Amino acid sequence: MVKITETALRDAHQSLIATRMRTEDMLDIVEKLDDVGYYSLEIWGGATFDSCIRYLNEDPWHRLRDIKSRMKKTPAQMLLRAQNLVGYRHYPDDIVEKFVTKSFEYGIDIFRIFDAVNDLRNVKTSVVTAKKLGAHVQGTLSYTTSPVHTPETYINLAKEFAEMDCDSICIKDMAGLLTPAAVTEIVKGIKKEVSVPVDVHSHCTSGIAPYTYFAALEAGADIIDTAISPFSFGTSQPSTESTVAALKNTPYDTGIDLDSFREITKYFKDLREKYSSLYNPISVTVNTDILNYQVPGGMLSNLVSQLKEQNALDRFEDVLKEMPKVREEMGYPPLVTPASQIIVAQSVLNVITGERYKIISKEIKDYVRGHYGKPPSPIKAEIISKIINDEKPITVRPADLLEPEFELRKKEAESLGIANSEEDILTYAIYPSIAPKFLKGEVKAEELPTVRRTGNIISVSDSAPTNFEVHANNETYTVVIHPKGMSVEPRNQSSQSSGSNSSNKVTAKDMPGAVLSSMQGMVISINVSVGQTVNKGDQICLIEAFKMGNTLTAPWSGEVKQIMINKGDSVSVDDVLMVIE
Ligand code: MN
Repeated sequence: MVKITETALRDAHQSLIATRMRTEDMLDIVEKLDDVGYYSLEIWGGATFDSCIRYLNEDPWHRLRDIKSRMKKTPAQMLLRAQNLVGYRHYPDDIVEKFVTKSFEYGIDIFRIFDAVNDLRNVKTSVVTAKKLGAHVQGTLSYTTSPVHTPETYINLAKEFAEMDCDSICIKDMAGLLTPAAVTEIVKGIKKEVSVPVDVHSHCTSGIAPYTYFAALEAGADIIDTAISPFSFGTSQPSTESTVAALKNTPYDTGIDLDSFREITKYFKDLREKYSSLYNPISVTVNTDILNYQVPGGMLSNLVSQLKEQNALDRFEDVLKEMPKVREEMGYPPLVTPASQIIVAQSVLNVITGERYKIISKEIKDYVRGHYGKPPSPIKAEIISKIINDEKPITVRPADLLEPEFELRKKEAESLGIANSEEDILTYAIYPSIAPKFLKGEVKAEELPTVRRTGNIISVSDSAPTNFEVHANNETYTVVIHPKGMSVEPRNQSSQSSGSNSSNKVTAKDMPGAVLSSMQGMVISINVSVGQTVNKGDQICLIEAFKMGNTLTAPWSGEVKQIMINKGDSVSVDDVLMVIE
């Protein structure tokens, strides 16, 4: 009997609506999902943790606790980025151990653990910790295609996972690249070598996934991942109900009664309606270009929203073309978080700044330094020196170089007054720049961009500009336009939770010596002070955008006369950051 993992509460909405499903919308349906007879419900991990604290003002731990309390029969599954946990960098072993342990205590039964570059030194700590706790560990291969990836690559990885005592193997095809022929060879090869169940996880991005699933089952796969129909297809998984129906009376019958979906399908149809404004046409249509560009499901909708924030949506195609070049230069990493973020962010920077590697993110430097593990194929020397100059990449397991961090983070959290529990300290340790605001209760939940009318107050959707600037006699006036006889709530300036200090933002462009921000993002650190002399190319500040830290450099030499930004401010494209004369 074929088993089904339902992704509605994690991957499906991560892939289709940029991970914005609210916990309240999940809780009412969990018991029904629990009754279906799924192999597991994927409910946590991946980008959901980040999205909760960054956009939704929700505590991810509370989400897990509340969902789990309604699950009596079905195992709860999470996606864990091995040493990257639910973040974008490598955390020290003590943080990894504490995070896995806490997740297990909160109710995670199945840990699906992958490393973005398939460097299994990076999965060791999380796999060993989860096994020790008695959890089910799904050793997960990040699937990609490249001149250096062959079926043997994956079969050998599966063998290594099995030697680490993993309870099942997952072939994770985040970009929807896996073909029936490839999955047949890989699954058969794995089945020959290891005795544990094999799960195939794909996305419909290129339209191939349903065929691939059937071929995978014929080759001996045991579990496939699907999403409830209103949140299926496009960049998400194949539809659960269709899969159950298609497999009926075949040797791969799921044994699930189609009637058990009736209420669930209706519920998620309504939810889809509620979130309709977040569906992007790019994420719901079949995109065969993906076979070249390899963008994973979740990344595509994020890329669209990030380009929107940077006022650069018109460069979408250019970014898609830049990505395979950057990926090749980085040694063909599978495009999965955080490698996907790193590659995509650098591709965006290469395109919007008009010069390749003019701005280099901190993360891509770390990647080239070997801090994310060994790239699948070696990076060319000229690229290494372009990104990190004379530095030599490391060859050891990246986390071996990291000092334990929990006690330090705990002290920091205590001094910030946000160390209420070990969970909160972990949240802070993983997201030190955005967690304080969240843990202090200062994050405002992002509103769904829909036109709403309450009495005679309307709030306006993203599509209609309401604020205009008028320049007259060297003065700038802000004018708010609204329909006659109505007052208007100003709409959120951006989807970022921060948006602080918008009142003292300077946007005057003809101020002499003004250094403008080339991106929308949050100021993480300022590396210069007033009165300091800087040389062209010196680091002046670090701005977090595309979830990466991007170093901005002085565009010319001179003295720092004035600094307009503070740590934690959010800045927009063309805001004046400082004056250097
Ligand atoms: Mn996925």
